[in-house]
Formats: sequence, structure tokens, C-alpha cells
Amino acid sequence: MSSTRSWFQKFQHREKNKDKSGTPTKREIEETTNSPMEDEPPSSATQQKVAAAKEYIENHYKAQMQCLQDRKERRWVLERKLADGDVPAEEQMNLLNFLEKKETEYMRIQRHKMGVDDFDLLTIIGSGAFGEVRICREKSTGHVYAMKKLKKSEMLRRGQVEHVKAERNLLAEVDSGCIVKLYCSFQDQEFLYLIMEYLPGGDMMTLLMRKDTLTEDEARFYVGQTVLAIESIHKHNYIHRDIKPDNLLLDRNGHMKLSDFGLCKPLDRSNFPDLSENENGDGKNSRTLAGGVQYNNKTSAPMRSQQEQLLHWKNNRRMLVCFLSILH
Ligand code: ADP
Ligand code: MG
Repeated sequence: MSSTRSWFQKFQHREKNKDKSGTPTKREIEETTNSPMEDEPPSSATQQKVAAAKEYIENHYKAQMQCLQDRKERRWVLERKLADGDVPAEEQMNLLNFLEKKETEYMRIQRHKMGVDDFDLLTIIGSGAFGEVRICREKSTGHVYAMKKLKKSEMLRRGQVEHVKAERNLLAEVDSGCIVKLYCSFQDQEFLYLIMEYLPGGDMMTLLMRKDTLTEDEARFYVGQTVLAIESIHKHNYIHRDIKPDNLLLDRNGHMKLSDFGLCKPLDRSNFPDLSENENGDGKNSRTLAGGVQYNNKTSAPMRSQQEQLLHWKNNRRMLVCFLSILH
């Protein structure tokens, strides 16, 4: 910081003493080239920002070039098909013009920045610590989605920014039938918005409260779907950390999807050599009998005897029943 200030003072001094033509003197040039800024390499934070900006710009232009290439290819394919199909010249022209019009329309839609004004806001279906979830309808298409709205100031106050980033990244990254789909995300001054598929079947908590006990077939079906959902996020090296009935939602066909990734965490697999080894190899040493996962020979939860586990499970169940009876 002090070096920046001294460089700035030198710079001001030089500006004052510039000759009338505005050309820097030899001494000034020497001063600038030997400035402390030159001696000190940029901080690692600055280097990271520079690398991120470089990557962003490169990806942006790479994607643009790819789009252009794809567009040319689509035109070329159509031209070939029309030529092969002996289509009259006038009709060929019309079809090619139609394609160009559609391509331009598509580009315009892609450039459009989504915002909350693009949606009609309907019923609130859930509310949590950071905001609310409501049904919304996209004005241009009439499609119905679930909009999760998170208050930025609240997330900053509770230090939850990383969690929200992880939630958004996971939803964008994992494309699985067992995970609630994210269509887009955007923000305004006050809120972050996640536009997700709307699952109209309610959550498992409501189903459990309504049915009380599931049949063995039903239980097997839902447990199977839960396992598939958890597996699909583990494959992408995330852990959910908040699996519970109210985060398991049902779609219109009764299939279950996992949602609410507000507590999920990306795993750096290199920190867990046992886990990677287990995936490729013997399948023995990374899990304990009590179900605790063992990382680097440390068990995540203490081993319980079978008796203790049963007691623990019964207590949990009792608490759940009390909770449900309060709700009824
Ligand atoms: P929170 O972090 O507040 O728990 P959730 O993402 O779990 O946020 O959403 C809260 C509630 O909103 C859920 O329990 C569910 O009832 C409802 N909900 C969330 N997402 C959807 C969705 N995509 N479709 C239907 N309901 C949803
Ligand atoms: Mg939740």
C-alpha cells in the first residue's frame, strides 16, 4: 500500500513538472521504469483476478466463434438438403430466409437478460431463512416455474455467500432426472433469483404427515429414488448435507427429486485419497461398519453399538411424532 502511495506521489510530482510540450523528460522515464510497482510482483489476489478475467474473456469469444461456426454449419446443411431434394429455387430461397430469421430471433433471445419483470409472480409455496419460493409464470411463454428468491443482505450477514454460490453451481452443473432442474439465475440490487422447474406434488414431509406409514413397496421406491439423487450429486463431487423429507419433492408423476442445495459443499477429492482409492479398488477401507465415512483413517462419527443406534433412532422417531402432532 505504501509503495502504491509513493508511486502515486511521484506520478503527481511528474505531472506538475511536465514540460510545456507534455513530453516526459528522461529522468521521468527512468523514474517510471524503476518505480516500486515494477519491483513488487502483483499480489496473488490480483493475479487470480487477472487469470479469471482472462479466462472469462477467452471463453466469451470462444463461445461466440463457436456459435458463428454452428450457424454457418446449419445453413450449409440446409443448403445441401435443399439441393439434394430438388427443391425449386424460389422455395429454397424462402426456406433459407426463414432459417436466417429464426437464427436472428434465437440470438436476440440469447442476448436478452432475464429479470424478475419477465415473470408473473403467483402463489408463495415456501419460505425460509433467506427468502421465499413462489410459483411464477414466464410472460413470454406462459411456462410455469418455481422462483427461489434469496435476500443478498441476509446472506452476507450470515456469511452464506459461498453456500449460495455452491447451490447455484450444483444446479447448473448436474443434469439429472433426480435433481430439480434450474432454468436460469439472475439478480437485482436486493435479491438473487433461481428459476427452477416447478414440482407440483408437494414434499415428502407433507406426504408422510398425510399417510403416516408408507407401505414397504412405497418406501422401497422412494428410498431408491433418494439414493439415485444422492449418487448423482456425489458423481459431481458435491455433498448435500441437508437430506430430509421437506427437501425431497414430488413431480406430477409421483417421482421424487432432490432439492434445496443451500448447504451443499463441493468436495475436493484430492483431500480424500481413501475415497478415490475405494472407488477404483477394493471397497473395504473407506466405510466403517456403523456407516460413518472414514477419511484418512479418521472416522466422521463415533462408532455406536447396535443397541445405542436403536435407542438413538427411537428417540429421533419419538421427537418426529411429537413434532407432527404439534403441527396437526
Ligand atoms: P429453504 O432453504 O428455505 O428450505 P427450499 O429450497 O427447501 O428452501 O424451499 C422451501 C420449500 O419450498 C420446499 O420445502 C418446498 O415445499 C418448496 N419448493 C422449493 N422448490 C420447489 C420447486 N422447485 N417446486 C415446488 N416446490 C418447491
Ligand atoms: Mg429446504
